[in-house]
Amino acid sequence: MTLPPVLIRPDYAYEAKRELLEALYAFVEEEASRFDFRCEPGCSSCCTTQLYVTSLEARYLLEDLPPELRQRLLSLSDYPRPATSPNTMALLLMRGKEPPEDEPGEIRPCPLLGSEGLCLVYPRRPLTCRVMFSRVRCSLSGQAEVPPEFLALASLLFQLLEELDAGGVYGHLTDVVRFLEELEKGAPEVPEWLSGNREAPDLAYLPEEDALRQALARLYRRKLPSGRTFKEVLDEIKKGFGPREALSFLDEIL
Ligand code: SF4
Repeated sequence: MTLPPVLIRPDYAYEAKRELLEALYAFVEEEASRFDFRCEPGCSSCCTTQLYVTSLEARYLLEDLPPELRQRLLSLSDYPRPATSPNTMALLLMRGKEPPEDEPGEIRPCPLLGSEGLCLVYPRRPLTCRVMFSRVRCSLSGQAEVPPEFLALASLLFQLLEELDAGGVYGHLTDVVRFLEELEKGAPEVPEWLSGNREAPDLAYLPEEDALRQALARLYRRKLPSGRTFKEVLDEIKKGFGPREALSFLDEIL
C-alpha cells in the first residue's frame, strides 16, 4: 500500500524542537511520579537493543556522547528494527491495513549500559527508555507491570514526539546515528530501514479517555525557558514546515 510521501529534513528547526524535547522529557518524569513505580538505580532488565528513536532524540544524544560510546553504538549488529514509525503504524491501522512486523534481531543488553547496571547516557536517554516503568520489581516478578493509563500516555507521547520532529526520521538508534553521520558528509540517502516522521493521523486511543486529554493539555500549556508554551512552539514548528498530508488529532487536545 502506498502512503503519502513525507519530506525528510532532519535539520529543520532543531533548536525549537530541542526545547520541546527537553520539556517532554521533564513532563514524562512528572507524570511518572504520580504512580507508585518500583524501578530503582541498577535494575536494568528493560535496557536492551530495542532502541527505537526519532532523529531528534538521536541528535540530542549525540551532542553529549563520548566517542567510545558512539563507537559501541556504531559497532552494534544483528539488532531488531522497527517496521515503521508509530504514526505510520496508526495510519495503516486506520486504513484497515495489516501492520507490518518489526525486523527481528537479537535482543541483547543495550550497548550504553554500564557494568553496574546504570545507564551511561542517563540525562540524554531517549523516550523509549524514559517510559519503562513497573509497579512491581521485574527481578522478582519476571516481568514489568505497567498501569494501562500510563501505557496509553506513553503511546500518545511517542506519536507526539514523531509529530514534533517534523522532517526527521524514525528507526533503530544505530541506524539513525549512521544516517545523521552520512548526512553530515553530504550524502542524504535515506536507508529503507528508516521511516520519515509523520503527523499523528487519528486518535489511537478512546476519545473519552479524559485523563489522557488532561495530561496532554498540561503538556501543551507548559511554559518553556523561552517564555512560550509548548503548544505555541509546536504550532510554529508545524506551520514553518508547511502543509503535510493530514491534520493531526493532536491539534484538538486543548
Ligand atoms: S540508553 Fe540507557 S536507559 Fe536506555 S536502554 Fe540503554 S542503558 Fe538503558
